[in-house]
Parts: sequence; C-alpha cells; structure tokens
Amino acid sequence: MKQQIIDKIKEYDTIILHRHVRPDPDAYGSQGGLAEIIRATFPEKNVYTVGAEEQTLYFMRRLDQIEDSVYENALVIVCDTANQARICDQRFKLGKEVIKIDHHPNEDPYGDLLWVEEDAAACSQMIYELFKTSGGQLKINDEAARLLYAGIVSDTGRFLYPSTTIETMQCAGELMQYAFDRQELFNHLYEKDAHVLKLEGYILQHFVMDESGVAEVRLTKELLKQFGATQAETSLLVSILSGVKGIKAWVFFIEEEDQIRVRFRSKGPVINGLAMKHGGGGHALAAGASVYSWEEADQVLVDLKNLVAGQ
Ligand code: AMP
Repeated sequence: MKQQIIDKIKEYDTIILHRHVRPDPDAYGSQGGLAEIIRATFPEKNVYTVGAEEQTLYFMRRLDQIEDSVYENALVIVCDTANQARICDQRFKLGKEVIKIDHHPNEDPYGDLLWVEEDAAACSQMIYELFKTSGGQLKINDEAARLLYAGIVSDTGRFLYPSTTIETMQCAGELMQYAFDRQELFNHLYEKDAHVLKLEGYILQHFVMDESGVAEVRLTKELLKQFGATQAETSLLVSILSGVKGIKAWVFFIEEEDQIRVRFRSKGPVINGLAMKHGGGGHALAAGASVYSWEEADQVLVDLKNLVAGQ
C-alpha cells in the first residue's frame, strides 16, 4: 500500500492535502509533514495544504487558499480523518483521486486508496514510516521533521499513552536528528495562557468522580465566558484528569452556541463505541461526540457509568 501511495504521488503534478475539522497537532503534523516531504522530493510539483486555520496552531503551519479549479486533475490526500463528514473542506471530492491515510478505526473506508493503521500512535508516525520505508524514493527536510515530531509528541500525550510503542520512540528519536528547535516547539504546544490555567484550576476543584472511577466536567457557555476561554482552548484541559488516583474514564461536556461537545477519555474501558452511539467516534481511549441538550449529556454520563460498571 505504501508503495502504491508513493507511485500516486509520483504520478500527479498537483497534490492537495486535507485533514480533519477542529484540527489538533497530529492533524497539522501529518498534513504538513507529508506536504514538506513531497516538496523536498519533488520541488516541481504543486503541493497545497488546505482547511480552516486554527489560530492556536499557527506555529505549526499556515495553510493555503485555493480555487476550486486547482482540484482538476489533482491528487487529494486526507490525513488523520476517519470519516468523510469530518474532512475539513469538503472540496476534497473535487480531486481526481483520493487517498486516505489514517490511524482511527476505519469506520468509513473512503478514498481510491486507503492506508489505515489503527494501532499507530499518531498519523504523523505513519507519515514518517512512509518516508522511512521508501528506500530513498522520498526525501525529508527539517520542517517536515518538526511537524511530524510535534504530531507524535502530542498524539501520544508526550509518550505516556499506551499507544506508544518502540517504533514510536524510534521514529521520534530519528526525527530529533533534524535541525529544529524542540524547546520552542514544546513552549508552543504546552505553554498555556493564564486564563486557561485558571480554568484548569477550576476544573481540578470541581470535577465530580463516583466510586467506580467515572468523572465528569461541565463547562457551560457562561463559565467559559467568565474565564475568557474559547472552546478550542479547552481541548488542552481534557487530559488533566488522567492523574487522578482511581480514575477509569471521564467525560468533558463543553457547551457551544449550537451544541455540547462531548470529549471522552479512558484509562482502560473502550469508549469509542459509546461515542459512536452518540453520533461521534474516535480511538479506543480518546473519543468525542456532540449532543444537543443537557438531558442528552446526562444520558451520556449514565451510559459511561454503565459501560465502566460492565467492564
Ligand atoms: P478530542 O477530544 O477532540 O481530542 O477527540 C479525541 C478523538 O476523538 C480524536 O481522535 C477525534 O478524531 C475523535 N473525535 C472527537 N470528536 C468526534 C466526533 N464528533 N466524531 C468522530 N470522532 C470524533
């Protein structure tokens, strides 16, 4: 499959890279990392990275604005995105051929070519492996290494999540050989604005955990306004409960204008089935969905408690 992907990349003059909505560093890392690898290898090709920009990830990459006509005869590669509905910029359909490269469960096997490795710790790790196993057909540069490294560090929770393997560490170690400022990258990834840290303090004081190790946090619109925090900023805070002794699984409900975002995390019980039941999806231990009322949120919590009790 990897060779077929490389052959397609060789075949096309124009390649457009997409990734999922509400991007995280692995989405940017895999999309931008692959774009840089293609540019470094084939400087004559037209390579674009598209999608709505996320301000908190400007440090990773700025994206391209392109006309619909660019898609004519273009190869589209979608990174880190399980299903078509979550692809950011639905114009991916305008491309001549579509390749899916992803590490989520393959719920929606879209694309003319698919390379899905559910066990890969990060999509950025897959992109590095594509380069590594290409036997010199692909070249990498420092910028690609920076982006892929950021994606791997971030999607493994700094190598703490169980998805981290020896290969993950090998990839990260090899990427460290390239010239980029790791300290600066970590500052961008992990420094938080004071108002976000204060919200973190609020969460630590107010999370509710039952005796079975299920915890919940509710961030209402009013609360976010009070702390001056945006929905995107809360994404950094979901993992902070992982250090609570005895916690097994937890859920954050984050209220937006038109929906309540549901973010599940787990230290063992598989929670993506529950996310799917509520119209979402994700990984075994990190998943998400949306609900449209607090009553529905109550039901999600009941479901999560039942799920953990049944394990
Ligand atoms: P997040 O809490 O946004 O970091 O999401 C955790 C994981 O769940 C990510 O891998 C997402 O791809 C996935 N995910 C989150 N929300 C949804 C959704 N509404 N539908 C499908 N997958 C989702």
